[in-house]
Amino acid sequence: MEKIKMTTPLVEMDGDEMTRILWQMIKEELLTPFIDLKTEYYDLGLEHRNETNDQVTIDSAEATKKYGVAVKCATITPNAARMEEYHLKEMWKSPNGTIRAILDGTVFRAPIKVKGIDPCVKNWEKPITIARHAYGDIYKNVEIKVPGAGKAELVYTSEDGTAVRETIHEFKAPGIIQGVHNTDASIRSFAKACFNYALDTKQDLWFGAKDTISKKYDHNFKDIFQEVYDADYKQKFEEAGIEYFYSLIDDIVARVMKAKGGFIWACKNYDGDVMSDMVSSAFGSLAMMTSVLVSPDGVYEYEAAHGTVQRHYYKHLKGEETSTNSVATIFAWTGALRKRGELDGIRELAEFADRLEKATLSTIESGRMTKDLALITSLEKVTALNSEEFIREIRRTLEAM
Ligand code: NAP
Ligand code: MG
Repeated sequence: MEKIKMTTPLVEMDGDEMTRILWQMIKEELLTPFIDLKTEYYDLGLEHRNETNDQVTIDSAEATKKYGVAVKCATITPNAARMEEYHLKEMWKSPNGTIRAILDGTVFRAPIKVKGIDPCVKNWEKPITIARHAYGDIYKNVEIKVPGAGKAELVYTSEDGTAVRETIHEFKAPGIIQGVHNTDASIRSFAKACFNYALDTKQDLWFGAKDTISKKYDHNFKDIFQEVYDADYKQKFEEAGIEYFYSLIDDIVARVMKAKGGFIWACKNYDGDVMSDMVSSAFGSLAMMTSVLVSPDGVYEYEAAHGTVQRHYYKHLKGEETSTNSVATIFAWTGALRKRGELDGIRELAEFADRLEKATLSTIESGRMTKDLALITSLEKVTALNSEEFIREIRRTLEAM
């Protein structure tokens, strides 16, 4: 069989630990036998980030801007323990944070649905995608522990020196205060990324905030979304037969629990942080969650939602058997290959991505899966496989197809 040809390279961002091992196996078993894989390779493994003073992360993000599609392996975000373990020159920043800042993106996370892994919420028949705004609010807050009686004020001073002042509270005794911010530009980018993603995946978009209580702050989010929608997206949504609606977050939460799924839920930063953990665990497993960073000008970076699975890696280093789930990493590749195929008009490439996803899911549905899924499946005849065996079984299914 002739291999599928690619015209534009994918930006390939290699990573760390157990996911780096899976990365290599996926390429060898599931990709290169079928595709003339064309990638521009960036090694974001911690050692190489350290050698290049993290320049490689910046270069990989710039390359993503240039080519439009990247696929990323999970990477270590250094902390004090990693400083020692890897003899780092500096505590390098989170690669995802660096890439997100360069691409100005919004992160979309969706569960991978498969028969036998049932959501806790019975009526969730289709995936629910969370779109999380990744800038500002309490993640860039300023806080003061108020020691005793006194007046707390909110003050804005413009460049020409004029000030706007509001009393927050006249304290009679100790307490706390917090200042948060966001920018219209960031909210607008967030809105655009959500509308584009909804069009791209032909799903409705829901957005909820607390505008009844926060009449300026949250109301500003609501207004900007509406403004962007009316100006640039209303007609496109009507043509695509999809819907955008805003409601109070309480109402959205209640609707989500009763819904069938199959929509995008746009969340402010904190709401997205909390709700994505709720949605992913209710759908079954972190190892079955995809993640894609979409920039407002249509650049895509695909990855798995989980980390480098450190505990399994240490077992692997000791020569012990591992059973690490590669599904989310496989889906990062298929997401990127499909997008590349669509952008370059290579139908075979997009079809291959569909086929590989199908082969992965039907392998699981036939009862062959990794341990994490074997523990929670409702299927009866189940074989728990190790990391390599699972990928080889997927290859067998793929070849049979
Ligand atoms: P993790 O790698 O997501 O793993 C946490 C636990 O979840 C694992 O120990 C394992 O549970 C289970 N798990 C996660 N993915 C799995 C998979 N594919 N198959 C089977 N089980 C899976 O999180 P972490 O251990 O907290 O973080 C490890 C490193 O990853 C850290 O250095 C962190 O900085 C990094 N990280 C990177 C990203 C990213 O690049 N996007 C995201 C998060 C974390 P059991 O041990 O019970 O089997
Ligand atoms: Mg969280």
